Amino acid sequence: MRYISTRGQAPIVDFKGALLAGLASDGGLYVPESLPQFSTAQIAQMAQLSYQQLAFTLLKPFVGNSFSDAQLQSCIDKAYGSFRHAAIAPLTQLGPRHFVLELFHGPTLAFKDFALQLLGHLMDEALRESKQRAVVLGATSGDTGSAAIAGCRGRPNLDIVILYPKGRTSAVQRRQMTTTGEANVHAMEVDGTFDDCQDLVKALFADQALRAGTNLLAVNSINWVRVLAQIVYYFYAALRLGAPATQVNFCVPTGNFGDIFAGYIARQMGLPMGKLIIATNKNDILTRAVATGDYTITGVDATISPSMDIQIASNFERLLFDLYGRDGARISQLMADFRATRALTLSPQAHAAFAAMFAAHAVDDATTLATISATRDATGYVLDPHTAVGVAASQALALEGITVTLATAHPAKFPEAVTQATGHHTALPPHMADLFEREEHITPLANDAATLVHYIQALG
Ligand SMILES: *Cc1c(COP(=O)(O)O)cnc(C)c1O
Repeated sequence: MRYISTRGQAPIVDFKGALLAGLASDGGLYVPESLPQFSTAQIAQMAQLSYQQLAFTLLKPFVGNSFSDAQLQSCIDKAYGSFRHAAIAPLTQLGPRHFVLELFHGPTLAFKDFALQLLGHLMDEALRESKQRAVVLGATSGDTGSAAIAGCRGRPNLDIVILYPKGRTSAVQRRQMTTTGEANVHAMEVDGTFDDCQDLVKALFADQALRAGTNLLAVNSINWVRVLAQIVYYFYAALRLGAPATQVNFCVPTGNFGDIFAGYIARQMGLPMGKLIIATNKNDILTRAVATGDYTITGVDATISPSMDIQIASNFERLLFDLYGRDGARISQLMADFRATRALTLSPQAHAAFAAMFAAHAVDDATTLATISATRDATGYVLDPHTAVGVAASQALALEGITVTLATAHPAKFPEAVTQATGHHTALPPHMADLFEREEHITPLANDAATLVHYIQALG
């Protein structure tokens, strides 16, 4: 399988190249040159497979010869072996035609574990084979960093350095990063904002002298393998509910457009599907884009679903590439204009294709809290605030047929909002019950690139 850049000017790479690349050299994102196709007969046969077997079947064509079958299966088994539910991604029924897909049974209680567990094992395996070491470097406002650390902890060929803004992550998120006790985990508390953390990371990736001596890897949401791992649970859930004979809608709490883009890829691979619903909080750039074709940046507001507080949905460029006939030159121009004007108006054809596949709805904080409360009263089930945005959007749109809302985090990961909505505290699951007793290892970091460069060079 070959991977090309959405901007058409970067070298073509294989799966391993896409795994280890951050942005393509032309500033674009890597996408497969073509997608494997599965017939309805082939999809029907997948109903018998375990989650891990299904992952192997769906991922194998994307991996090509970059890993042997045994290597891929072993990475998949190790990645999902760390999950605490036998079904890996179980469905729970909330209403006559409404299910939630629980994606929070991984080590850090959020769906990002699905991708980052696999990514950590695949990166480590690639490095082991080529007898190299690398430093995984990233900035986080909470969920990505904790999941990336869980995916890389204890991997022999990797160090992981994650920068987070002091005092601005939740206590659960911070403790998941600082209490692993692993020598290869470096949780760095930056005296600054999330943007400061991101700027430091960008400065290091641009530092050619550092990169000449140190293999730096990125785990941000533009890594193709993160999208790829997320395709599996769309097939898995649809099969449990009768696909390919039944078509379900998927409603996805959306920030960077990574999770829902995986649903779009599943559809393009042949999985019959109703609509893909983009559920956003008050930061509604994507909802506006579906409604009118206008993709214009406004400010970011803080909400009680912080992992969806985004301004630019980085993976949206991958969809634009398809909506514009996979014309890299056109995307390159569009993105340059977008950078300059902070606005993009979809062409009538692109907008029509977008709105035919996707629906969207924005949900404010008051409705999110009311949804957590009403759902608990009606069913006893407790939603986290991100999932509640999805449930509220599903209920507001009330599409025909079955809708599956992706439950992207466990309610105990965001206890303040849940307690505010329900008046009840949600306990951490048993394997994490002692999180607040574990010893923290925090490395304070001044907001200064040179200090970070020295720290990373000293890792050797
Ligand atoms: C990251 C995250 C999201 C948003 O996912 P995207 O792929 O960025 O759209 C939603 N909910 C939770 C809990 C998250 O951690």
